[in-house]
Amino acid sequence: MKTDVLVVGAGPVGLAMAVELARYGLSIRIVDQAPQRTDKSKALVVWSRTLELMDRMGCTASFLAAGFKATAANIVAGTKQIAHITLGGVATPHPYALMIPQCDTERLLEQHLNTYGVHIERNVELTQFAPSETSVVSTLRHAAGQDENLETSWLIGCDGAHSTVRHQLGMEFLGNTLMTDWLLADVHLSGAPNPRDVNVIWHSDGVLVVFPITHDRFRVIADSGDTRPGIERPDPTLQDVQAVLDQRGPGGITVSDPVWLANFHINERKVADYRAGRVFLAGDAAHIHSPAGGQGMNTGIQDACNLAWKIALVSRGACAEEPLLGSYTIERSAVGDQVLKAAGRMTAVAILRGEVRQSIRNHVASLVFGLAPIRSAVANAMTEVAIGYPKSPLSVSSQHISGGPAAGERAPIRAGEIPVGAGNTPRFVVFAEPNEQFSHLIARFPDLLDAIIRKPFHDHGLWLIRPDGYTALATKQGHWDEVSAFLNRIATPHPA
Ligand SMILES: Cc1cc2nc3c(=O)[nH]c(=O)nc-3n(C[C@H](O)[C@H](O)[C@H](O)COP(=O)(O)OP(=O)(O)OC[C@H]3O[C@@H](n4cnc5c(N)ncnc54)[C@H](O)[C@@H]3O)c2cc1C
Repeated sequence: MKTDVLVVGAGPVGLAMAVELARYGLSIRIVDQAPQRTDKSKALVVWSRTLELMDRMGCTASFLAAGFKATAANIVAGTKQIAHITLGGVATPHPYALMIPQCDTERLLEQHLNTYGVHIERNVELTQFAPSETSVVSTLRHAAGQDENLETSWLIGCDGAHSTVRHQLGMEFLGNTLMTDWLLADVHLSGAPNPRDVNVIWHSDGVLVVFPITHDRFRVIADSGDTRPGIERPDPTLQDVQAVLDQRGPGGITVSDPVWLANFHINERKVADYRAGRVFLAGDAAHIHSPAGGQGMNTGIQDACNLAWKIALVSRGACAEEPLLGSYTIERSAVGDQVLKAAGRMTAVAILRGEVRQSIRNHVASLVFGLAPIRSAVANAMTEVAIGYPKSPLSVSSQHISGGPAAGERAPIRAGEIPVGAGNTPRFVVFAEPNEQFSHLIARFPDLLDAIIRKPFHDHGLWLIRPDGYTALATKQGHWDEVSAFLNRIATPHPA
C-alpha cells in the first residue's frame, strides 16, 4: 500500500505534523538524518495557543507535568519598570507561558507519536525527490549508504532552516541576517529578581533577557556587539555571562553550572509559498526569525496543526484539493509575515542605541504599556490566541454576529467542553440551536460534519468551526443554507 505522507525532519514541527497525521489515521513515515534528538534547550516557551492545539492532540498533560508556568513578563529600563504584562487574564484554559526546553518538547512529542505505532527513522536523509501530478518519489539515504526510493502521496519538509526540500524546490528564502552577535546561556542563577517571570532589561549598553526554566535554572540572552564579517565570535564563558548580568542586571545575581553557552546570530527569512503541488514546507524550513517573543517553534507547530487536517480530509476523499490545500499558504504565510515583523520590531526596539533615542523609547513605552487595553492586546498576541485567518478562502462571514467569533477567528474554548478537533477524524462542528436542517446536513456530509451539535456562543448566531478550532462560518441563526454552501464548496464533488 502506498504511504500517504513522508515527513522529513523530526524536530518539534515534524513531530507535531506526524502526530496529527497519525492521529487522523494516515499512513506516514518520518525520517531524520540526525542519529538522535537535540539535547539543546533551544525553544523554551510553549504558548497558550499551542497548548490548546495540543489539547486536541491529547498530549498536554505530559507537557504540563514537565514544564514550568511563567505567568508574567516585565520590561525594566534602569531601575524603572516600563511594563508588567500578566497572562492570567487571557481567555484560554492555559493562561501562562509553559517553559520547557525543546529537547523535552521533542521527547514528549516523540513518545506521543509512538503511541500511534509510528517511530522516527533516524540516520535517514532525504537526498532528492521527484514530484508528479499524483505522487512524490523521494530518495532516502540510509546509514549504511544504501538508497531507498519511496513513493508517497505527499511530502512535507519539516527539515529546518537549511531545508533540503526548500532548496530542491528552488524556493528563495527571502530576508536578511542581523549584524549583531547574541549571547545565550542556560545556567543556574541565584538572586534572580521575579524568578517566575520573563524579565527584559533595557540597558544603555543593550538588552538582557532572563527566562525561567525551573526554579533555579534560567535562560539568559543578551546582545554582545556588532558582528564582524568573517570573524566568528567564540561561545561565551561563564565569566562573560556573569559580567553581562553584573553590568545590565539589577545586581546580586550569581551564575553557576552552565548547561549550554552559545553565540548566535539572528536571521529573518521566509519563503513566499509554503506549497508546490504535492510538496509542503512547515516550521523553520519556511520561516526563521528573531527569538524575541519566542514564537518560532510555536509558529511551526501551528503550521503543522493547520495543514494536517486538510491533508487528512483530502486523502480520505472527503474534500477536494481546492480550496483546502491552497488555503495553507494563504493562512500560514500571513501569520509568518506577522511573526517576522513583530519579532524584528521587538528586537530593534530592545537594542536601540543612543541616549536620546533610548530615553524617548523608554518614555513612550511606559506610556503605551500603562494602558490596560494595550497590555491585554500584547498578552493576547504573545500567547498567540489572537492569531486568526480573516483573509482565508475558508473564512466566510455574511453577517456580523455579536457575542461570538467572527469568521477566521479562533473559537472561544468553554470550560469542560471537549476541544473541537479532538478524536481521530477531522470534522467541522456546528455551534447553533438544534434544528432538523442539521440532521439533513449530517446525512449529506457524514465525513465532514460532527454529529453532535454544540450550544451557540450567542442566541442569535450559527457558527461552523473547523477541526483546528478556527471559525469557518459565522452567520445568523437559521441560515443553514450557508453551512450547506460552505461544505459543498470544500467537499469532493460527487459524480453526476
Ligand atoms: C537559541 C534559540 C532560541 C530559541 N527560542 C525559541 C523560543 O523560545 N520559542 C520558540 O518558539 N522558538 C524558539 N527558537 C526557534 C526554534 O528552536 C525553532 O523554530 C525550531 O527548532 C524549529 O523546529 P523545526 O522542527 O521546524 O526545525 P528543526 O528543529 O531544525 O528540525 C529539523 C530536523 O530536520 C532534520 N533534517 C534536516 N534536513 C534533513 C534531511 N535532508 N533529511 C532528513 N532529516 C533532515 C534535522 O536533523 C532536524 O532534526 C529558538 C531557536 C534558537 C536557536
